[in-house]
Amino acid sequence: MKMKALALILLTAVLGVPNWTQERPQDRRRFLDPKTQVSDDPRRIVVKPGPRGPEGTLVLRGGRIFDGTGAPAHEGTLVIERNKIVKILPASSSDWPKDAQVIDVSGKTVLPGLIDLHTHLTYPLNEENFGLASNEADATLRGAEKLRYFIESGITSVRDVGSQGDVPFRLKEWVRENRIPGPRVFPAGAFITGEGGHSTENTPDELILRMGATRLASGPDDWRQAVREQFHKGADVIKLGSHFSAEEIKAAVTEAHELGLKVTVDSETFYIQRAVEAGADTIEHPLPRSEETIQLMARKGVAADPTLIPYQIIFDEWGGYFGSTSRRFTFSKDANLEMLKRLRKAGIKCGVGTDLILHWYRYMPGPYIRELKNFVDAGWSVPEALVAATKTNSEILDMDDRLGTLQAGKLADVLVVNGKPDENLDDLAKVELVVRDGYQVVVGGHVAIPRHSAEKAWKSATAPAEMK
Ligand SMILES: [Zn+2]
Repeated sequence: MKMKALALILLTAVLGVPNWTQERPQDRRRFLDPKTQVSDDPRRIVVKPGPRGPEGTLVLRGGRIFDGTGAPAHEGTLVIERNKIVKILPASSSDWPKDAQVIDVSGKTVLPGLIDLHTHLTYPLNEENFGLASNEADATLRGAEKLRYFIESGITSVRDVGSQGDVPFRLKEWVRENRIPGPRVFPAGAFITGEGGHSTENTPDELILRMGATRLASGPDDWRQAVREQFHKGADVIKLGSHFSAEEIKAAVTEAHELGLKVTVDSETFYIQRAVEAGADTIEHPLPRSEETIQLMARKGVAADPTLIPYQIIFDEWGGYFGSTSRRFTFSKDANLEMLKRLRKAGIKCGVGTDLILHWYRYMPGPYIRELKNFVDAGWSVPEALVAATKTNSEILDMDDRLGTLQAGKLADVLVVNGKPDENLDDLAKVELVVRDGYQVVVGGHVAIPRHSAEKAWKSATAPAEMK
């Protein structure tokens, strides 16, 4: 056994085989014993201990359980207590408390809630009305509307990689408190880039500033400061974009890691190599341009969030991706699929994100399912694509200790579909029930908001007698 371990270490050292679970020195988990209760996000902030989620036990009885670990679907019963999965029973067992709520899901598939690694919850429907686009109240409502499309598509977590002001942080909090229906939100805050960089090209300066979804930074100290600003607002991840100098990206990545956050980067051509060298954790979009960069990503265990789908929509609706200084290379549907195949061949961990800007969220769940089919076109099996959407995405999010699989002890983010999505991805559209953090948020395919439960009446001499 010892020899085997030694051989593995030597092999890793010689070949640079990525160790996905490698602990980052700044990871606060090293300093927390597992009993200390922390926030359910990558910030891992110690919180007041106590139960979370709705009271009682929820039993999803007799479904096909696709647990996201890579194991094939099997008959079983999922038992949820408050906001946690407590056990998975054989279909014949009925070992749950008498007062549990039992939902018969026989014939249906029970799987981990899906994750979308790339959203912009506050982006406007169109960019013509600057006033409305930059209006924070409207941005908040846009976000709330989008959350519904995502949760009704079975997506229980989104990683928001660039949104306006405080909006994504407030949305995160309101979902966490179960005050609005939606998936968990893991926000990056503003997208950090250099003057004229990605997300600022072709956009009037005034709109960029007023929308507050982009933070322009200049020089290593300012890039570091920009990261700290997002951390201060509550960021769960840091999003950086080209262009940047080697010193700027290094400063930003180092700062994010020291604060305990992962970094994801949208950059073009040689900037990707620069970002990977600086220690970026994930590269967005099908952007790597050279085999050298792909091999370096593989060696360093850098993940990819290839997002082929937004570009497919762009090519279909706009005829091409034009006028962007941050996409100065030949870009096509075929080239993007080829890139995904190369990432797979190199052994790079690939996650699923949709990057739906403008009105495209209204196509959901179509684009998400299409992205999974892109994975299948690039060589993944259907079950492997579902594992990418759940387990792998939770790893990229830095939340695999709590999300991504149906296993005892994990948070109860569960999707029930009326079909076999592990055989036919289109069945993912047949969403029946979505449980997020133990709450039944989608029932019968649509958002379900129970009647409010009135709090106990206040004590006041002027209150009607029956309310005292
Ligand atoms: Zn984006």
